[in-house]
Amino acid sequence: MERIGLFGGTFDPIHLGHIRAAKEVMNGFSLDKIVFIPSSSPPHKNTSGVAIAEDRLEMIRLALAGQPGFDVSDTELKRPGPSYSIDTVHYFQQNAAKETLFFLILGHDAFFEIHTWKSYHELFGIIPLIVLLRPGHPPSNGLAIRKDIATYLKTKISRQYRFSLKKAGYFHPDLKPVYLFSKNLVDISSTSVRNRIKNGDPIRSFVPGEVVKWISRKNLYQ
Ligand code: ATP
Repeated sequence: MERIGLFGGTFDPIHLGHIRAAKEVMNGFSLDKIVFIPSSSPPHKNTSGVAIAEDRLEMIRLALAGQPGFDVSDTELKRPGPSYSIDTVHYFQQNAAKETLFFLILGHDAFFEIHTWKSYHELFGIIPLIVLLRPGHPPSNGLAIRKDIATYLKTKISRQYRFSLKKAGYFHPDLKPVYLFSKNLVDISSTSVRNRIKNGDPIRSFVPGEVVKWISRKNLYQ
């Protein structure tokens, strides 16, 4: 049975925090593949100033070139209108072999917004989630984030989610599991990368070399 991670986001731009997270999740969950899926017009982000989709897509391609097991999909860019995760998950599940097991990968900052997503209840019924506990992102530490995730799941999704320490996640009699993952994640965000560019600071430690070149060639985020 193939195991595939779906990793959506704005990727404006993709950075080494995304890539590290993908590598660690791939190992940690024995995934065969992770698909990066840039969103077209992110419904939850202020779209002004977001680099055009083609640039974001190309930067992901450059970042992932030669990295086995990593793939990029333009499905959200091809779909008209805003990108909704539920549509993307349906798309992948409907077009895959029957035995394929998908996981939706997202940071805890994104997770806490799920109740504003289209058909979010259905999402918990069709795909296991892997929530990345991002260092440097509020709430301040891993323990506080875990506590907030528990509260969020129980109040916003279902009281029947139960934590399993052994499996590092929440389990439910009818809905899919919600796993927590924090191993070796790094505190990098696209916002910090964009701010560094605006301030004229180097970004080489935060962004793959080929992406650095693309950003300067296209004068992005100035
Ligand atoms: P921005 O700063 O513009 O909000 P971002 O760095 O959060 O961007 P996104 O493109 O929004 O990047 O991220 C896509 C997904 O990856 C989101 O679910 C986000 O939570 C997660 N993510 C982003 N950076 C990291 C990181 N350093 N470690 C783990 N997950 C991350």
